[in-house]
Amino acid sequence: MGVNKEKYKEIINELGAAVTLVAVSKTKPAEDIYELYNLGHHDFGENYVQELVDKEAQLPKDIRWHFIGHLQSNKVKYIAPFVSLIHGVDSLKLLTEINKQAAKNDRVIDVLLQIHIAQEETKFGLDEEEVQILLNEFTDLQMKNTRITGFMGMASFTGDIKKIANEFQHLKIIFDKQAESQASNVKLQTLSMGMSSDYKTALEEGSTMVRIGSLLFGERNYPQ
Ligand SMILES: *Cc1c(COP(=O)(O)O)cnc(C)c1O
Repeated sequence: MGVNKEKYKEIINELGAAVTLVAVSKTKPAEDIYELYNLGHHDFGENYVQELVDKEAQLPKDIRWHFIGHLQSNKVKYIAPFVSLIHGVDSLKLLTEINKQAAKNDRVIDVLLQIHIAQEETKFGLDEEEVQILLNEFTDLQMKNTRITGFMGMASFTGDIKKIANEFQHLKIIFDKQAESQASNVKLQTLSMGMSSDYKTALEEGSTMVRIGSLLFGERNYPQ
């Protein structure tokens, strides 16, 4: 229980000013979030809609909430009023719903497209061709209440650092290619890659945003 403050300070120093730390607080109580908040931390990541809605209601309004789980279209409406960045968008259907709910709330919601880089079949995300198609569709449809600000990806769950590095490199290449051709409401600046086990490798490969949970908050009782 409790937050590892030493680790937090160490990671913040390691990341420097150019990389954002999203503290992944899923399954952890609001008190733990407060502990980091009181050290000046404002970016927190959650995976489950109901849990995020509950925490948002209890915690300070200047927290930037990142939704990092797999978002179902029918649940977008619950987080649309306040969410700061949605990391795992991988379909036109979801983008369309986010845009609709953002418009209802009279705001623009920033999202990251999830790119499939791991070998595992189970991981969500788009391949390089699908990214291109989705970006084209997004631009054609002129979704004014959504902004695509970058990509996110998860490497294979393996101890093989070389393999993880290759997967992150692959994502960085796709990112750099697309970052050159910016359409309206597509401003690719954020590359969200790296978690507790592989964030050091992600930093070496050009990550601008890491999502770290267990190193800060301790192991979770159930996986995810
Ligand atoms: C849970 C989760 C994290 C954080 O995982 P840790 O290994 O605890 O750092 C990061 N990204 C996503 C998408 C997650 O679901």
